[in-house]
Amino acid sequence: MVLKRHASSLESPFKRTSVRPRLPSRCPLCSYSTRMPREPKTIAIFGGGISGLSSAYFIAKRFPNTKITIYEAKERLGGWMQSQRVVLNKDSLNGQRILLEYGPRTLRTGILTLPTLQLIDDLGLLDDVRTTSREAAASQSRYILYPRNLVRLPSPGPPDFLLLWHLWVSGLLKGIPTLLMEPFRKGRPEDQRDKDESIADFVARRLGRDYRVADNLVSAVIHGIYAGDIYKLSAKAILPQIWHLERYYGSVLEGLARLRVGVKELTDRGIFCTALSRYDWDTINHMMRDMDLDLRVLERLSVRETATYTFKEGLQQLVTRLEDELRRKENVEILTQTRVSDYHLNANNQLEVTSSSKTSNGRNRTFDFAVSTLPNPSVAPAVTVMTVNLYYTNPQAIEKWRLGYTDREKSDGFGYLIPRSVDLKENPERALGVVFDHDATQNLDQVRGTKLTVMLGGHWWDGWREFPDEKEGETMAKSIVKRHLGITEEPDLCHVSLHENCIPQYTVGYEDRVRSEGSRLADLYKGRLWVTGNHYNGVGVNDCIRGAYLLAQDMENGGWLDDNHRIGLRKFYDSGEWFMGPNQFALERTLFGSELPKYELASLGQ
Ligand SMILES: Cc1cc2nc3c(=O)[nH]c(=O)nc-3n(C[C@H](O)[C@H](O)[C@H](O)COP(=O)(O)OP(=O)(O)OC[C@H]3O[C@@H](n4cnc5c(N)ncnc54)[C@H](O)[C@@H]3O)c2cc1C
Repeated sequence: MVLKRHASSLESPFKRTSVRPRLPSRCPLCSYSTRMPREPKTIAIFGGGISGLSSAYFIAKRFPNTKITIYEAKERLGGWMQSQRVVLNKDSLNGQRILLEYGPRTLRTGILTLPTLQLIDDLGLLDDVRTTSREAAASQSRYILYPRNLVRLPSPGPPDFLLLWHLWVSGLLKGIPTLLMEPFRKGRPEDQRDKDESIADFVARRLGRDYRVADNLVSAVIHGIYAGDIYKLSAKAILPQIWHLERYYGSVLEGLARLRVGVKELTDRGIFCTALSRYDWDTINHMMRDMDLDLRVLERLSVRETATYTFKEGLQQLVTRLEDELRRKENVEILTQTRVSDYHLNANNQLEVTSSSKTSNGRNRTFDFAVSTLPNPSVAPAVTVMTVNLYYTNPQAIEKWRLGYTDREKSDGFGYLIPRSVDLKENPERALGVVFDHDATQNLDQVRGTKLTVMLGGHWWDGWREFPDEKEGETMAKSIVKRHLGITEEPDLCHVSLHENCIPQYTVGYEDRVRSEGSRLADLYKGRLWVTGNHYNGVGVNDCIRGAYLLAQDMENGGWLDDNHRIGLRKFYDSGEWFMGPNQFALERTLFGSELPKYELASLGQ
């Protein structure tokens, strides 16, 4: 692979760095290096959400001569990513436009998010980035509702003993002391070492069959990310690090302690470590080798400084910019309002795609290759979430004492999550949590009011045939913020969105299901149909972009012709090897350094 080694500094007035290979790695792509590169002539991409758009972008970058066609069923692109400026009809505010997010609202930083940074750099979005620093109130103040009050969680840094005391008396930490006995509890029996189990069962088993920590703390966090049920979601897929520590050492805490000794050479050098899979390690290596990033992007979105970020016009801006960029390319065609209804392999090993295209010659088309980003319920069922955006021109709408202080000037924080253990009387609407958007995503509006998003439903609505309508959603959201935050005034804006089947659930047995689905698809389409998207690569926007990036990388050098079970799912066919390596803060530092650090890594279980 060619190294870019600062080549781009010749093209750009900005100081740029090529992120060079500084880490030793085994290269699963090497088998292709001796082959002649071969390019597909035509590629279809199913779905115009962030996975489909970023797949098209990264593939077009690597295959500039290939004709790429994106099929999107709806009129607009972006899938669940949707931001909108809504006019505030209040004379005194002169028609101000408030930015509302109906789906995702923030992106996290981290070493595995390098492909998102590459997009931001390529699309010239850096100046529109709006960050929330690690020091900001939104990063420091996060709450859990328990049992009927908001309890602030500790943030990194020196311990705040008063806060810890409040936390203790709230009862939220019930069951935590059983953690002390965790190293003395038996691990999984030898014949069940690879057996998956639910998150609730895993956590409770490590804590002596005590479900309180799972119900109070873990369920709240999982509500915030998956809107899912910890009694159904897979521990192996969602908590792979601690699941593997137990697998290798019989105890999570003992595993951590043994690994600290194993990587003493690193810890002595002040490098903090974490458990890493071989796949993630290779991925980080490849990304560092492959990317050509403006230093300013790395600095602005550094994991040390920035916790989360969005863009001036919300996350939609990433979609809009991607769409503009793709429309500018002569080899990319975007078909909206065109639903893919069928696809199969013909006798020439090409994919015949049938769609709802209005033109008869567009309805049936043939492609050398296709990438599907469409939902796949056979690997992961999905839950339905309702988001209700509320805006109050009064910046002090939340009663401050509910947040544990009286200082009116103090920021409110990120928001709160509601664990499954909260009594039905406190949460009859079955809300998952409330985001304080006015703090969580700052500097987006010209006026400062109280901007909230109430998240409802998720696994609580599993099996429902009908969902609340807009009026009911509004009423439910208003009663939640009245009960929990003391807001009695009417909102100046309210927007209700129902997202049916929006968040895939990686339930117990997920990885096995993906592998068998991967084999089925590889056999059926002889490797000509690859898959990516939130049903496979993780449920966050960064995961979707990384999945698209790695898929495009795997397709290079004839990889797209390979009919083994790669098809965008290489992660699931990984060796399963885990070890202790530098954490993302340490790795990020290597992106800026001039020396090539050497790492002695300790394999798990040795
Ligand atoms: C309420 C909510 C809040 C979230 N918050 C965050 C957050 O804060 N941070 C974060 O990182 N992530 C968040 N997420 C997750 C994130 O939004 C998703 O992971 C991501 O948008 C998924 O993108 P995708 O392209 O894989 O799928 P989708 O967005 O579902 O895109 C799939 C596309 O395929 C189209 N399609 C479907 N069927 C067909 C067909 N037959 N033919 C053609 N087209 C078809 C759909 O119309 C859609 O446009 C949130 C999600 C939700 C719902």
